[in-house]
Amino acid sequence: MEKACQRCGGRCCRYFCFQIDAPESFRQFEDVRWFLFHKGTTIHVEDNGDWYISIANRCTALDADGRCRAYDDRPLICRKYDPADCDFSAGNYGYAMTFRTPAELEAHAREVLGPKRYEKAKAQAHAKIARKQARRRRRTKRPRARPRSAGS
Ligand code: SF4
Ligand code: SF4
Repeated sequence: MEKACQRCGGRCCRYFCFQIDAPESFRQFEDVRWFLFHKGTTIHVEDNGDWYISIANRCTALDADGRCRAYDDRPLICRKYDPADCDFSAGNYGYAMTFRTPAELEAHAREVLGPKRYEKAKAQAHAKIARKQARRRRRTKRPRARPRSAGS
């Protein structure tokens, strides 16, 4: 175990993170906003424009002392992780943008799309969903044709 890891308590083992598509439309921003409604979720954007989602969720192999119980058989992603350039050693990665709440993401979406376009897309999307749900409700309420009795 690296010296730094002995002091760190396993910061890199308390979340997982993966790349997501960079949102460009209202609907895509809505998907990302939905992620952020979930506890422990953060979105960050790197300098090259790549978007990532990070979910705070402790690895089940991390023991109470911050050591890996699966060390000899740890996944490749853990083997490749470099303690010289990690959460503990490097500290803040200096992301271009970080979103921690739905409101932060929404503010960014409004800025990117423009407030009018944002509001228009939002109204259209809400109306479309309402129409679809109304159609579905009408279909389920429609009385079924009475079965014909013999001879009718
Ligand atoms: S690699 Fe870095 S973040 Fe992970 S346990 Fe070691 S010192 Fe901590
Ligand atoms: S498998 Fe081990 S090294 Fe990998 S995240 Fe879990 S505790 Fe950390």
